[in-house]
Amino acid sequence: MKDPNYGKPTMEGVQYCIRCCIPATQEGVKFDEMGICQACQSSEQKIHINWVEKEKELRRIFQEAKDKAGSNYDCIVGISGGKDSTFQLHVLTKVYGMKPLAVTHSHNWFSETGWYNLMNSLEKFNVDHIMFTPNRDLVNRLAKKSLEGIGDTCWHCHAGGSAFPLQVAVKFNIPLVVYGESIAEASGRSSYKNPLMKFDLDYFERVSIKKNPKDMIGGTVTEKDMKPFFLPTLEEFQRVGVTLMHLGDYIFWDDERQMEFIRDHYGWRETEIEGTYKGYKSAECIMPGMHDFTNYLKRGYGRSTYQASVDVRNGLLSREEGFELSKKFDQEIPESLEYYLKITGMTHEEFYELMKKKRLDEIKHIELPVVQKTRKNKERILPYPEQLVEREEQRRKAEQSKNEK
Ligand SMILES: [Zn+2]
Repeated sequence: MKDPNYGKPTMEGVQYCIRCCIPATQEGVKFDEMGICQACQSSEQKIHINWVEKEKELRRIFQEAKDKAGSNYDCIVGISGGKDSTFQLHVLTKVYGMKPLAVTHSHNWFSETGWYNLMNSLEKFNVDHIMFTPNRDLVNRLAKKSLEGIGDTCWHCHAGGSAFPLQVAVKFNIPLVVYGESIAEASGRSSYKNPLMKFDLDYFERVSIKKNPKDMIGGTVTEKDMKPFFLPTLEEFQRVGVTLMHLGDYIFWDDERQMEFIRDHYGWRETEIEGTYKGYKSAECIMPGMHDFTNYLKRGYGRSTYQASVDVRNGLLSREEGFELSKKFDQEIPESLEYYLKITGMTHEEFYELMKKKRLDEIKHIELPVVQKTRKNKERILPYPEQLVEREEQRRKAEQSKNEK
């Protein structure tokens, strides 16, 4: 017999987009009078955009940047080793002959696959690279504060990932900062015909960081700790004339195709990612499972809802199939919860108690089921540097006991 709940969303009585699986609890989501979300509208507009014209515009922007740069770098590109940034490096260096300075703000939660992907991209694209890595102890302290503050585990990555490329842009006098996916693509915050016009400091504080570094100071976190997370000042920003652009506003963006392309041409690697059925978004990190699980506990949906919605828009899944995938993956307790509790010293009870407080008021009355995960994640949930250190210690121990025998 068919399950009567088949194809139904997780939350009863909550508005969902009539086309995809996105609920009204998504931050910043807007529905039109028909009940269609902005990301769905955007995906329709995308087909009607004159991409040939857009590409000409891109060529012009890059030429201008090269002319202005002279002997300096042509642009800054933030890279993580992820799918998007690897594709960006391809576009910048191979298609447009740009000389970027690649910049990484490390979350210090690299997966083994992610570390390989980052190193591989530096080798394949021959780019100069600067990486900033906040220390382990600070990352652990911030992970705890982050959950208390913004209700997810990843403040240091949101904040540092936004701030560091801009700090480098200012220090090295490189005005053009290139990002990947358009904000119109699937975030639901804007659409191609209604792009966010101003990328200024206010934008970052509002959209990306959610919490000012100043707000993190206190308790275990000092002012000195926060130094790397501040954006440049408005004066610095203006002195260099920093301009931000998203490649996805100029070339047709297709996640799936791009991943296949970099995999087949450059040896980029997918991995298993907790909380979803796809293996390429946030592959560089061991913690996306926690990021998305906390989102589920706050807003009633996780990464698989988001990705299923993209697939529904692209005609790869029916909306019902999308909801089924959402339920299967969003509700699973990730293995990374154990790592998170270890580094923060929190208990399971404290974690769920806090998440209950973080849940949106409009869904406080709804039961959000969670399911124990039974299979082990393909990749180990431990930052790759720690794996390296551990491996060496084990090797030494084994050698020592061999010598003693
Ligand atoms: Zn939609």
